[in-house]
Amino acid sequence: MARVDLDGNAINPMTICMIGAGGFIGSHLCEKLMSETPHTVLAVDVYNDKIKHLLEPDSLPWAGRIQFHRLNIKNDSRLEGLIKCSDLTINLAAICTPADYNTRPLDTIYSNFIDALPVVKYCSENNKRLIHFSTCEVYGKTIGSYLPKDSPLRQDPAYYILKEDTSPCIFGSVEKQRWSYACAKQLIERLIYAEGAENGLEFTIVRPFNWIGPRMDFIPGIDGPSEGVPRVLACFSNNLLRREPLKLVDGGESQRTFIYIKDAIEAVLLMIENPARASGHIFNVGNPHNEVTVRQLAEMMTQVYSKVSGEDAIESPTIDVSSKEFYGEGYDDSDKRIPDMTIINKQLGWNPKTSLWDLLESTLTYQHRTYAEAIKQAIAKPSAN
Ligand code: NAD
Ligand code: UDP
Repeated sequence: MARVDLDGNAINPMTICMIGAGGFIGSHLCEKLMSETPHTVLAVDVYNDKIKHLLEPDSLPWAGRIQFHRLNIKNDSRLEGLIKCSDLTINLAAICTPADYNTRPLDTIYSNFIDALPVVKYCSENNKRLIHFSTCEVYGKTIGSYLPKDSPLRQDPAYYILKEDTSPCIFGSVEKQRWSYACAKQLIERLIYAEGAENGLEFTIVRPFNWIGPRMDFIPGIDGPSEGVPRVLACFSNNLLRREPLKLVDGGESQRTFIYIKDAIEAVLLMIENPARASGHIFNVGNPHNEVTVRQLAEMMTQVYSKVSGEDAIESPTIDVSSKEFYGEGYDDSDKRIPDMTIINKQLGWNPKTSLWDLLESTLTYQHRTYAEAIKQAIAKPSAN
């Protein structure tokens, strides 16, 4: 049966230049595009470990529809040629781990703003469509976080729900270098928006709200540096695998909404295949029903991991740690992140499906299967690592 878009029109096969295709989101998007669509992907990244299973062997059903181009977009003249011969460019490349924002602010700003500039320019000059990955962090803190702790207005959604077209972007002071990432992402969003307004660039901006699932980040000392600090899913997975307490930064009071990567990828596929409905829009992509504090996340992950590993939890499953100790000087945090879903619902009719418990169960089953043995060996022979 011919594939059709949301308006019933046939979808023609397209060529997609996907920059950052070797990362967490890129690997899931490549998987989806290969298994369910006829599109071709030019996968650009400096690494390909997370998409190796899609590139080899030659007998894979989609062989010939995905090509890996190992290049650093900072300094490679091949980039423009790849964008020119594609119908659509998707830019996922970024430094996007909070531990880097205050400790490597220059790399963070260069990666999220300066390195994205040529991508925007080549798309605009060559009349190519661009889907750019921004972040929910551009909203920064909620208005409610500045109200007195006992103010009843804190319960009013007007003070915390994040809306693409009306919410302000509220960052801490410049000394709080945590916001270097959010600020760089905000400026590239404004530049893309202006390219759309002044030069007719056809764009879509995606603001992911804590997408999580298999292949996110790395497990320190196993497939990433021992001293590295990944995002919370991988930090807590690492602690559970090693039977260490999960570290709650500043009491674990911040709130997040987590969405299963596979739900979120459905939204991106709708954007790819419905340009008339997606172009010119900024979309929140998250699951407003999966809100927890970081402490509740730790408790739920501990319970789920016990279930999937068959091991009882350790006696003290969490430990408090200050943000200064954990992330260093200049860390700050988003207090609460609930996405408003009106725009994506109206334009693409998309809704997330998976509950937090279910997504943690599939993700931690994957983490256990992938890493438990390697961790056991690393603990048994510390000198070999
Ligand atoms: P990721 O780190 O797993 O993927 C990013 C990929 O980009 C990596 O494979 C990296 O090697 C590649 N890359 C970085 N710089 C590059 C360069 N100069 N040249 C070539 N490749 C380069 O991160 P992710 O979670 O997949 O995130 C993808 C995008 O989504 C990022 O822009 C991020 O800011 C945004 N985002 C993600 C989330 C989330 O919940 N996962 C939340 C907010 C925003
Ligand atoms: N966090 C934590 N312990 C950890 C790692 C992270 O308490 O081991 C907290 C972090 O301070 C933040 C939340 O978990 O409040 C989510 O962090 P993540 O790195 O996933 O990224 P963010 O949502 O802040 O972009």
